[in-house]
Amino acid sequence: MEVSFWNKDIETADRGRIQALQIQRLKEIVSYAIKTPFYQKRLSKAWIHSPDDIKSLDDLKKIPFSVKDDLRQNYPKGMLAVDMEEVVRVHSSSGTTGIPTVIYYTRGDVDRWTDLLARGIVATGATAKDVFQNMMSYGLFTGGLGMHYGAERVGMAVIPVGGGNTQRQLQIMKDFKTTVLHITPSYLLHIHQRMTEFNIKPRDLFLKKAWLGAEPYSEPTRLKLQELYGIDVYNSYGLSEMNGPGVGFECVYKNDLHIWEDGYIIEIIDPVTGEVLPDGQKGEVVFTNLIRHALPLIRYRTRDLAFIHPSPCPCGRTHRRMSRILGRTDDMLIINGVNVFPSQIEEVLMSIPEVGTNYMIHLSSHEGLDRLVVKVELYQKLFTGDLSQLDSLKGKIKDKLRASITINAHIELHEPGFLPAFEGKGKRVVDERQKL
Ligand code: AMP
Ligand code: ZN
Repeated sequence: MEVSFWNKDIETADRGRIQALQIQRLKEIVSYAIKTPFYQKRLSKAWIHSPDDIKSLDDLKKIPFSVKDDLRQNYPKGMLAVDMEEVVRVHSSSGTTGIPTVIYYTRGDVDRWTDLLARGIVATGATAKDVFQNMMSYGLFTGGLGMHYGAERVGMAVIPVGGGNTQRQLQIMKDFKTTVLHITPSYLLHIHQRMTEFNIKPRDLFLKKAWLGAEPYSEPTRLKLQELYGIDVYNSYGLSEMNGPGVGFECVYKNDLHIWEDGYIIEIIDPVTGEVLPDGQKGEVVFTNLIRHALPLIRYRTRDLAFIHPSPCPCGRTHRRMSRILGRTDDMLIINGVNVFPSQIEEVLMSIPEVGTNYMIHLSSHEGLDRLVVKVELYQKLFTGDLSQLDSLKGKIKDKLRASITINAHIELHEPGFLPAFEGKGKRVVDERQKL
């Protein structure tokens, strides 16, 4: 197996050196965090009033966790630790309840993030000779621009197509002899089904590898995609709170995600007690971002469930590997790569007067893509029986949902009493998607 490095010195550094870098950078992050009223309060609870109060990595455990809600409650700039003048980039999480979460980056932050992406890219064996088609959406979501910068740094020829428009994607793959894709597993599955429609076979293309992320998928899905396309598929993990993609990347051994530990401190905790668990045990993933100054996040609870592999990787990298994401501790749904909370859908529905009190969220798989059907009972008093009124109501619900969750839902309208009634806790989400 050929193993390549972007920065061999640091990727294979001994644990002592990695930990020394972690302490040094944690102090640096604390020096920024302490400038925000939010962290000033949080850190003082842990008796940390200056970066010098951090003596060892154990001191990290004294600091209370941060959660998504902290970002929301401090929207838009409450957790910004630098002058807006120093900010060169703003991103936002792809799906949140109500108020979005905003992430800020200085020039240095983008530069450090980009470097970690370059490490991951090279770890999969990609080089400057590759032609890279980035099929993750550009915009506030970090998947597009983030990976774009990393691939440019490696010197790949980057084609910033973004998501959607399958026919054009296939044409570009053919015409530009694309060798590497960055795409969600759902979309890569979907494209294969559409290929026959456009009379294209995988062997007409020049694809060698794909980086798949933004949503969970299983090993059988990886194997299936590798076989269907005749390519190597690598898992890529990230979240906007930890900058975006590039937090974890698989190497050529495809045995789970190397977490760049000089950039992120990873802890696995018991989601109920908050206790830090030993390597090998499954729990909630908690990250401290060591490389972002504009918006420091210390001990951020991701709600993602995973474990850390206790054994080293044959590639020689010393940065520990995290398993694929095994689930979530909350009810967040990932629909075609977009994060959606059921409460967001509820909020939209309940803001429409013609909607009654009962609704259901139904998820299924359709030609490899997720299909969202929202079943809604009408509010009898406001319904006149006029069919055109029903059509316009459907359109209104669809538009409002699209504006809130950026997804095109199929809307079904029903008479009051049609949907199952819940006497206790309602189970409004029915997820019948084929497990990826
Ligand atoms: P966002 O902040 O919008 O980029 O969403 C981040 C979330 O997407 C993570 O917390 C995960 O739940 C999910 N995610 C990203 N990459 C992967 C991956 N490779 N496997 C499973 N889930 C992922
Ligand atoms: Zn490895």
